[in-house]
Amino acid sequence: MSLLITGSVALDSVKTPAEERRDLLGGSASYASVAASFFSAVNLVGIVGTDFPKNYFELYRRHGINLDGLQIAEGKTFRWSGEYEWDLNKRRTLSVCLNVFETFQPNLPHGYRKTPYVFLANISPQLQMHVLAQVERPKLIVADTMDLWIETQREALNELLRKIDCIVLNESEAREFTKQTSLIRAGRLILKQGPKYVVIKKGEHGCLLFADNLFFSAPAYPLEDIRDPTGAGDCFAGAFTGYLAKVNRIDHDSLRKAVVYGSVIASYCVEAFSLDRLETLTSAEIEQRYQLFKLMSHFEVG
Ligand code: AMP
Repeated sequence: MSLLITGSVALDSVKTPAEERRDLLGGSASYASVAASFFSAVNLVGIVGTDFPKNYFELYRRHGINLDGLQIAEGKTFRWSGEYEWDLNKRRTLSVCLNVFETFQPNLPHGYRKTPYVFLANISPQLQMHVLAQVERPKLIVADTMDLWIETQREALNELLRKIDCIVLNESEAREFTKQTSLIRAGRLILKQGPKYVVIKKGEHGCLLFADNLFFSAPAYPLEDIRDPTGAGDCFAGAFTGYLAKVNRIDHDSLRKAVVYGSVIASYCVEAFSLDRLETLTSAEIEQRYQLFKLMSHFEVG
């Protein structure tokens, strides 16, 4: 089944304690689309400016991503820059320039309107709802968000929660949103606000999946060398939704596997800057790491 993804398409500048890189392909929708493309066909909805490098369009095409919904507007592409501390879980945003996103009100191409799976990657909740309103009865709607929208667009976020099936957020966002210290309580509280499934990402400590009668905890892959954590969350959610679109089932077993595939792709993403590692990633490598996750979490012999 195909998957519609909307979110930011960006030129990122990223500084880690070891390295600094500028004008990288980034944005929540870029990471999520490439991650999802390992599992399903992707219809991308987004906007770039006339400064967007041609080779980045080529990268999307190499992953078979449908760009009919990627608008090119007069002006500059969305830009974000951030800096990581030695503890790579700690990131500071240095600057955000919305640029062409400031006035973006997409009109979905006709061929996109019946896409059965939808992932609303991180962007303002109003924009996420604007896109969602144009899709006809999707089978599954997953959304991501960030602290900025929790702090500045709470009402819109509450409205979004009532319209979606699954929310993916990181632990600090879950705590901030619910004003709870316990992630278990936070997950259960968010479930009460609308979505049937809640995924809380804990960075290098894995993630938690909540549903009415399901709780699942997955570890993160124990990587020794993380070069750039940017986009890990977007890759997780893109691959998670992409896998569900591929199997076209949303039962508990598929949800658990989707969480593990999400973790596998996220673990590859952080091995290099931008989408560099996913560019060379093969199906065999995905399966290999999936099997390692299985071994890592298995404790009963026989
Ligand atoms: P993550 O590391 O998963 O939080 O995602 C990082 C990506 O989010 C970067 O590639 C940024 O371009 C993008 N990003 C940063 N701030 C925003 C924002 N306010 N809205 C949408 N995307 C953003």
